[in-house]
Amino acid sequence: MPLRDTEAFVLRSYTLKEADKICVFLTRDAGKIRGVAHGARKLKSKYGASLEPFTEVSLHYFEQENRDLVSINNCEIIRSQFADTISSERLAALHYLSELLMEFLPDHEPNETIYRLVGAALKSLRQTGDDPSLLLRYCEVWILKLAGFFPDWRRCAECERELPMNVPVWLSADGAPQCANCSNQRGDALTSETRMLVNDILRMPPEKFVAQIFDPRALTKLESIVARLIKNTLERELKSYEMLGRLRSL
Ligand SMILES: [Zn+2]
Repeated sequence: MPLRDTEAFVLRSYTLKEADKICVFLTRDAGKIRGVAHGARKLKSKYGASLEPFTEVSLHYFEQENRDLVSINNCEIIRSQFADTISSERLAALHYLSELLMEFLPDHEPNETIYRLVGAALKSLRQTGDDPSLLLRYCEVWILKLAGFFPDWRRCAECERELPMNVPVWLSADGAPQCANCSNQRGDALTSETRMLVNDILRMPPEKFVAQIFDPRALTKLESIVARLIKNTLERELKSYEMLGRLRSL
């Protein structure tokens, strides 16, 4: 069994038996993997705080033949999200982000773009204060797009005609963009502000995107479009989504 080394973000940890944990990692070199951390629940565990969500770690593990679970040999903290106090809004945002990644990323498929996106998003989250909503819209669009679930709004899904920013666009019930002809002007009408928002997400790094000021109606619209897309794809809502909403209405 060869020992492998990679950088990774901890996405989630579960209790396994009395002393062990199962952890889900987003690794730079091997994509999303699950590993057993033996003895991680013991009081004096060698893992310390390294298995907290979104801690970036230097991970050393053994692959086991024909087994989905790797065996974690060691895990050292590169950067923790909990170095300073963390607000409940930021914590809820981290939970939501981890659930999105857990649900939408396939196992064992390395994706450097996703890895860099998560790193940049966490850095921006530390700068956004207590309102992470812009950053969450940014991550949702990118994660869905990289997983192949965010439709291209630049073309009609029916007739494939180009849809410049100044022409009206309608989304069908399953989220496909359509021109005026193909949609019969029925469905969810997209304003150019909402389309511009997605354009900006796809061309800007997160730290630049979250520093912009956007039309709040366009943001709310995008939020509902993405929530529906997620629900249609998974056939349920994400558990942490409700928590985000509850915090916002406080
Ligand atoms: Zn069309």
